[in-house]
Amino acid sequence: MQPKYITILGARENNLKNLSVEVPKHEITVFTGVSGSGKSSLVFDTIAAESQRQLNETFTAFVRNRLPKYGQPDADTIEGLSTAIIINQKRIGGNSRSTVGTITDLYALLRLLFSRAGEPYVGYSNSFSFNDPAGMCMDCEGLGRRVQLDLDKLLDKSRSLNEGAIDHPAFAVGGWFWKLYANSGLFDNDKKLGDYTKKEWEALLYGAEGSVPLEWQGGQINSKYEGLVPKFDRLYIRKSPEEMSAKNRTALERVVSVSACRTCNGLRLNKEVLACQINGRNIAEFSALEIGDLMQAVREVTSTRVTTLRDNLLERLGHMVDLGLDYLTLSRETSTLSGGESQRIKMIRHLNSSLVEVAYIFDEPTIGLHPHDVYKLTSLMRQLRDKGNTVLVVEHDRDVIEIADHVIDLGPKAGRHGGEIVYQGDIEGLYRADTLTGACMRKLLPIKEEFRQPTGHLTVADASMHNLKNVTVDIPTGVLTVVTGVAGSGKSTLIHKVFREQHPSAVIIDQSAVTTNRRSNPATYTGFMDEIRRLFARANKVSASLFSFNSSGACPACQGEGVIYTDLAFMDPMITLCEVCSGKRFTEEVLSYKLRGRDISEVLALSATEAADFFAREPKIAETLRSIVDVGLGYLQLGQPLNTLSGGECQRIKLATELGKKGTVYVMDEPTTGLHMSDIDSLMAVINHLVDTGNSVIVIEHNLDVVKNADWVIDLGPRGGSSGGQIMFEGTPRALLDAENSLTAECLRASLN
Ligand code: ADP
Ligand code: ADP
Ligand code: ZN
Ligand code: ZN
Repeated sequence: MQPKYITILGARENNLKNLSVEVPKHEITVFTGVSGSGKSSLVFDTIAAESQRQLNETFTAFVRNRLPKYGQPDADTIEGLSTAIIINQKRIGGNSRSTVGTITDLYALLRLLFSRAGEPYVGYSNSFSFNDPAGMCMDCEGLGRRVQLDLDKLLDKSRSLNEGAIDHPAFAVGGWFWKLYANSGLFDNDKKLGDYTKKEWEALLYGAEGSVPLEWQGGQINSKYEGLVPKFDRLYIRKSPEEMSAKNRTALERVVSVSACRTCNGLRLNKEVLACQINGRNIAEFSALEIGDLMQAVREVTSTRVTTLRDNLLERLGHMVDLGLDYLTLSRETSTLSGGESQRIKMIRHLNSSLVEVAYIFDEPTIGLHPHDVYKLTSLMRQLRDKGNTVLVVEHDRDVIEIADHVIDLGPKAGRHGGEIVYQGDIEGLYRADTLTGACMRKLLPIKEEFRQPTGHLTVADASMHNLKNVTVDIPTGVLTVVTGVAGSGKSTLIHKVFREQHPSAVIIDQSAVTTNRRSNPATYTGFMDEIRRLFARANKVSASLFSFNSSGACPACQGEGVIYTDLAFMDPMITLCEVCSGKRFTEEVLSYKLRGRDISEVLALSATEAADFFAREPKIAETLRSIVDVGLGYLQLGQPLNTLSGGECQRIKLATELGKKGTVYVMDEPTTGLHMSDIDSLMAVINHLVDTGNSVIVIEHNLDVVKNADWVIDLGPRGGSSGGQIMFEGTPRALLDAENSLTAECLRASLN
């Protein structure tokens, strides 16, 4: 007998309070609760982690050693687990050989179709692959473009080597790479590059025989001389982006020019393959069609040799349409997809699988999805369930919560005040439940009454990038503007690309990682850690530096990290608690110094909310802490490493540090990501405060409660891709209510009753 439940007893990961729960199998269970209540700790850190761990144990030691290591989650018992497939918002990324077509396997089907029905017949399906020597354009090796060092961008001819003529951080004056040229004896280091002889240019760019003496760890070594062009080629240009640090990538982007490959015009394939056509189109032209048009083209393939194949391809393309991705093309590179798009693409791969008894785990799947398209997502979840799978969803969206067979509501609040189950049962029960989620489900927000008057406007003129149809639009200043529209309608292109190019002083508050430094935490990032150190120093008459993670006061075993990272090649590092300080991060001496009864480690364990009380007497610290609480992050511990934060949390902590500035234009993308309905009030309060103190805020948002709070709405549409890119509406949300032909208006009307 198959167990009917996934049974968890005594779960204690992060803030979970020895929680026990039965999650029904073969049903859709939605996990709700305020941010920080423990949803991820239960669903990802406990259920999914244990499933992955058990799966890994079934492999041979050889395979196991090559898989990421999962520690045992902190729980007494976890039983009845299925194999879990986690579908999160992590961007697919990937190199430029990875496209929507390759990642979904749809391009493989298209190749098969061409190998059977294409004229003239060229060969096996592999020969239609740009990642296979048989099919690729040999000049660009299937990349479709050429990246070349742009010497005009790299070199400043009005300068000498000593004046920093090589404009790239790795070649800064005095640095290792700079010395390779300056110490070579080939150049007069004070001569401007513009005055170089032909021979000197030749040597600088392409090289000369010889070696250069360089200092190395106190001694001297001789390094082989190499010209700038081959050096850049070897170090950067021939590397794939993911082999490089983000810093190197950005530096490189500044000094290269990218152009379509002239041999294949960016189509990636060789002449023979491109000559093969179906109904007058080659495979590259098929791949460049938007999914909706591609389906039409595939339908027109009538050859009886490929009927089954064609129907299979159509069915799968239909899933793309079902998920609201009909504006994408198969040739689109996955590295350009947003988090929400990446998540939906990952779903496609599973929809056709005949696996049953799988637990699919979704993390806020509505991100980036217009309310009008949410029902498509929910019907796909139902399909997965009806095939005999278990679906677990962490979600704040009302429309997703409403399709739940079972709801597990965590709370009552966040962090230490959460970690319990406050309601479980069906959706009708949730509407009656005395919990924050229940209260929000019962309450419908009205549109706000008074709209701010703009102080002026910023114009975006003649925008025609991607799908934008030569758009000119005024964005008012001194108010809150919300930009809406279905996925693919052009919101990000308009705001993140065109607006920012035309108005570069706008400040972007996005969801990217705050830092990669493992020692950063909310206290160091927002800047009051120094103040805390000084308070400890004054109270104990010792040096403030003792309380720093990189001082002699830090635990020597873990260098103040509290945990030990063991790096495993190609895998996530293994993390274990430091045995010397038990995670307290400082030496015993330092821990003996107290501030109002607490040692430094105890202070860093306070949540921002608790710390706001503790530091009530220090107005500057307290003010910063209140900003953190106001953006809905009161549950974060002062010492919690920032690399444990989700995208939505990163965005909000950046927002917290901006409070108090004036005259700035801020741009935010879905700031409600990861926020419970009840937290949106406090987020709106923060945004309103920013506007009231003299700033302009532009947000891209689908959440209708945010739209209702806007002073001005700019709605793009009517649909995605080539059927989008127009302004459907500009005005107040009240006027939006009467707009025709706007899907956003339609959803706004529906949300009011
Ligand atoms: P939710 O998913 O409901 O937003 P989480 O499960 O992410 O909540 O977080 C629950 C609590 O556990 C929060 O107080 C959070 O700060 C804390 N927490 C989550 N991840 C970590 C971590 N890696 N280290 C320390 N605390 C964490
Ligand atoms: P939204 O933000 O409203 O979801 P986008 O601005 O991301 O819409 O997309 C608008 C159109 O531009 C879509 O057809 C999308 O496929 C296309 N697009 C977006 N980014 C790129 C890109 N990097 N390369 C090619 N096409 C893109
Ligand atoms: Zn080419
Ligand atoms: Zn330690």
